[in-house]
Amino acid sequence: MEKKQFQAESKRLLEMMINSIYSQKEVFLRELISNASDAIDKIYYKALTDDSLTFDKDSYYIKVSADKDSRTLKISDTGIGMTKEELENNLGVIAKSGSLAFKKENEAKDGHDIIGQFGVGFYAAFMVADVVTVISKALESNQAYKWQSEGADGYTIEEVEKDTVGTEIILTIKENTEDDNYDEYLEEYRLKQIIKKYSDFIRYPIKMDVTQRSPKEGSEGEYDEYTEEQTINSMVPIWRKNKNELTDEDYANFYAEKHYGFDKPLKHIHVSVDGSIRYNAILFIPEKMPFDYYSKEFEKGLELYSNGVLIMNKCADLLPDHFSFVKGMVDSEDLSLNISREILQHDRQLKLIAKNISKKIKSELQSLLKNEREKYVEFYNSFGRQLKFGVYNEFGANKEALQDLLMFYSSKEKKLVTLDEYVSRMPEDQKYIYYASGDSNERIEKLPQTELVADKGYEILYFTEEIDEFAIKMLMNYKEKEFKSVSSGDLGIEEENKETEESTEQESKELFEAMKEVLGGKVKDVRASKRLKSHPVCLTTEGDISIEMEKILAAMPD
Ligand code: ADP
Ligand code: MG
Repeated sequence: MEKKQFQAESKRLLEMMINSIYSQKEVFLRELISNASDAIDKIYYKALTDDSLTFDKDSYYIKVSADKDSRTLKISDTGIGMTKEELENNLGVIAKSGSLAFKKENEAKDGHDIIGQFGVGFYAAFMVADVVTVISKALESNQAYKWQSEGADGYTIEEVEKDTVGTEIILTIKENTEDDNYDEYLEEYRLKQIIKKYSDFIRYPIKMDVTQRSPKEGSEGEYDEYTEEQTINSMVPIWRKNKNELTDEDYANFYAEKHYGFDKPLKHIHVSVDGSIRYNAILFIPEKMPFDYYSKEFEKGLELYSNGVLIMNKCADLLPDHFSFVKGMVDSEDLSLNISREILQHDRQLKLIAKNISKKIKSELQSLLKNEREKYVEFYNSFGRQLKFGVYNEFGANKEALQDLLMFYSSKEKKLVTLDEYVSRMPEDQKYIYYASGDSNERIEKLPQTELVADKGYEILYFTEEIDEFAIKMLMNYKEKEFKSVSSGDLGIEEENKETEESTEQESKELFEAMKEVLGGKVKDVRASKRLKSHPVCLTTEGDISIEMEKILAAMPD
């Protein structure tokens, strides 16, 4: 029997890949820059083991230059370059990754910074280019080669002159079509924007000749134009820097640069974890609630980087809903990416990171509460509601994590207090944590129902938001103390005066019957109250639900 090899239809495969892997064309630049960075990394690793080589950081860089006249965009690097064989193998064979092979060979030497692995990124160039030309001279070769391809029809290779080691990728940018604009990839501002977005933290300088204007001397309103070579990327990501070297201002600048919000961050959290999963993160608790926070448009999530390269703008899985206000980024070298490097292959690592981050946010909020009360109250006024929703949602599953972060207005302290503070102040004979619901603190204060409890000297928590009572119902109790609405039938403090009570009940029996009749079905019962002092009458409920909550429940659609 004869065994035949499958023939990959390279042409179709290439077309498919070019058009279906990436959701955005602009990522072609990210891919080519990543390759250039890998190529420089390889020289760097070589220099670590090869004494005849030195790595002088200044001579290693990536340069992006556009020429509108010839419609070409050039990405050149001073990296390790490719031999003729490497051009054929790595660029001529789809899904062959020289970088992955390099990483495997050099496992022992920690090749973690190398980005490439799938052997497809290069072809992203064909999303925006009709012709791709690669001119490369390898470190270990005296001859340079030119590889050229129009995509589908294969490629040509020929010898060329090139003095220095490294690679130039030259894209002949497509003409605009009705649906797609390609001219933008020759525009300086657009290229800068894409570099900033995806490649800001590539560790080598990405340079561009940037047009500058200076006022022409002597003639007002006229300018001299000239170009100046600039480094576009920030290179060292702030999250890789040592915390001790960074100031609050550095973090605030990063917050503004990244457009996390128009406000200032209230608090930053810088995390570097080097355990079973490695990641760095910079998280921010914003000062103000974003204007769209409670609208459908609001998307929670953190930026996700893999090795300094942006993978996802808003990774929602990294944040639980109750911390959806947190902004920031996570960078990890341990993520297993899918082929487009846009989504993740497995979410195990992500889950671990998310869990870890959640804990950090919680403990940071706790320490804010403990050490910077004013700031915490400011935070709570913006986002406290979200914490209460957090307790209520998922049926109290987040109870442990969130209950210590809650605050309510106190009848005694006349300010927000925590449940812990409330309970620690409770007199010994007090059985419950009392609360009263209403539209505003002023109105609650005037409720006849609060009188008896207040008179006893007990503190009352004022619930002015609809979510308050729902959240408390999920908590059920705090430090073994149950919550009790001041409008519930049994307040647990009325045992005294059993006798007078009974006699009043007897004496007034007829009156109550008459009142009940007049009120028709509007009340269930009329009784003598044991809780009034200055008010003649008050409404109470039977069971656990307050009048306020009954109102809300009644208003809810079934
Ligand atoms: P990946 O980066 O995932 O390996 P690519 O398709 O982006 O896949 O690149 C394929 C291979 O081509 C790389 O692994 C590398 O060996 C080689 N290569 C691409 N660009 C360059 C470059 N600028 N310098 C040196 N080698 C390169
Ligand atoms: Mg690549």
